[in-house]
Amino acid sequence: MTHMHVAGSIHADATSPAPVWLAKPDDVNALDQRLWSRTVRRGEDGALEVGGRSVPSIVEETGTAVYITDEADFLARAAEWRDAFEGWHVYYAGKSFLCGTVARWLERAGLGLDVCSLGELTVALRAGFDPAKLGLHGNNKSDEELRLALTSGVGRIIVDSAQEITRLERLTEELDVRARVLIRVTTGVEAHTHEYIATAHEDQKFGLSINGGQALVGMVRCFHSPRIDLLGVHSHIGSQIFDTNGFEVAARRTLKLIDQFREATGVVLSELDLGGGFGIAYTSQDSPASPADLAASLIEIVEHECRGFGLPVPQLSIEPGRAICGPAAMAVYTVGTVKSVEIGGGFSRRYVSVDGGMSDNIRPALYAAEYSASVANRASSAEPVLSRVVGLHCEGGDILVRDVWLPDDLRPGDLIAVPAAGAYSRSMASNYNHTPRPPVVSVADGTVSTLIRRETLDDLLALDAGL
Ligand SMILES: *Cc1c(COP(=O)(O)O)cnc(C)c1O
Repeated sequence: MTHMHVAGSIHADATSPAPVWLAKPDDVNALDQRLWSRTVRRGEDGALEVGGRSVPSIVEETGTAVYITDEADFLARAAEWRDAFEGWHVYYAGKSFLCGTVARWLERAGLGLDVCSLGELTVALRAGFDPAKLGLHGNNKSDEELRLALTSGVGRIIVDSAQEITRLERLTEELDVRARVLIRVTTGVEAHTHEYIATAHEDQKFGLSINGGQALVGMVRCFHSPRIDLLGVHSHIGSQIFDTNGFEVAARRTLKLIDQFREATGVVLSELDLGGGFGIAYTSQDSPASPADLAASLIEIVEHECRGFGLPVPQLSIEPGRAICGPAAMAVYTVGTVKSVEIGGGFSRRYVSVDGGMSDNIRPALYAAEYSASVANRASSAEPVLSRVVGLHCEGGDILVRDVWLPDDLRPGDLIAVPAAGAYSRSMASNYNHTPRPPVVSVADGTVSTLIRRETLDDLLALDAGL
C-alpha cells in the first residue's frame, strides 16, 4: 500500500477536493521534470516530445494506448546505477519490465539480470543474455525452471525454502551439475514508501526466517551439500523505498547471520545481496535520492556493520527494477469521454475516460499507487480543473490517475500522457474485458522502434477453443 485515501486526512476538504500535496498549478502545461524521462519537453506547437519526436507523431504510427520508452533515459539510468555502485553487482529486476531488447540494453550496460519465472528466464536466454549474469528468484520454482537454470549455467539461484534445497539436491544429482546459491532470508524488515517496520513482518511467503532459525539451518545444510555452492545471503525488504533505515537494519541482521554461520562452520560467506525497491517519483510528492547518494549511504552502512562483526566487506549486490525502467517510459492514451460529477461540499470532479485502464496499469487499483498526467497533443490556456483519469473497464476502481489538474477545455481526441509508467505496467498487464495489451515502443534520436508489438484480438481469440 503506497498511500491510503482516508477522507479528511489527506484531503483539504474545506477549500478543495484536491489532496493537500497537489497544489493547483499556475501553468497547466508545465512539466515537473522530475517525473518525466530526460528527453521529454513541450515543443513549440505545445505537444510533448520524447526522443526527438512529438508524441502525436509517434502515436500516429502506434495508436493508443501505448507505452513509449525513452531509450536514452533507460540507458542513462542503467549506467548511472552501474557507475554509482562500482565494485558491486547490479542486477536489474526483470519482473519490472523485460523483453528481448531490454535484455540486450542491460547486457550492453554491463548489468546482471534477475528473473523469477520460466517465462522471464526464457526471454533472457533467447535474447542471448549471459547466463552467468542471471539470478533466478521465486518462492515456488518448478523442476522445469530449476532444470533450465542448472543446465543453462545461470549464475545464481536464490533459494527460498528448505524444500527447494531438497529439490536442488535431487536435480543437481540427476543432471550431474553444481548449483550456485544465495539463501533468501527474511530479516523482519518491511519497507514501503516513507516507512519501514522492523519487527513482526515475518508473516509473508518469501525466504527463510532469521528469527526462527530456519535461515541458519538452511545455510549449514547447503554448505554440507555435495553439489551446492553456497555463495551468501539475500534480503529484499520491499518496494518504493525512499530512505536507508530499512536497509541498515537488514544489513545488520544479515551480517549477524553471516557471523553466526562463520561460528558454526568456520567459513566466511562472500556475498550479500540487499535487494531492490528503490523509490522513484510518480508524483511531485516523491523525492528519490540519486543512485550516487544511495550508494554512499549503503556502503557506509555495510562497512560500519562489518566492522562491528569483525567481518570483511562481502561482494555486494543490489537489484533495482523500477528505478531503471519506471521513469524511462510514459503511457499515452486517447481521451474518449469527459464528464463532471457532483461529489458533495459544492465540489465536482472531472472524470476523464481513456482507451486503457487497469488492464495496462493495475498499480492504482492494486495498491492505491499515485500517478500524474499531462495533455500530450497541445498546450492549453484554459483553467486547470481537478480531474481523475479513469479507464474503460467495468470496475469502479479502474483508475489510472486519482487526482491531477488538467485543462478545462480537455475534449475527446486529446492525448493524455502518464509519466513514470515503465515499471510494473506492461509486465502486469492483463486482458481484462478481452482487452488486447498495448505495444511498447522505444524512441531515440527521432526513430521509433517496436519492443513489443500490440496484441490483436486475433492473438487473444486464438486461445479460445470454442471460437
Ligand atoms: C521486486 C523485486 C525487486 C525489484 O523491486 P523494484 O521496486 O522494482 O526495485 C528486486 N528484488 C527482488 C527480490 C524483488 O522481489
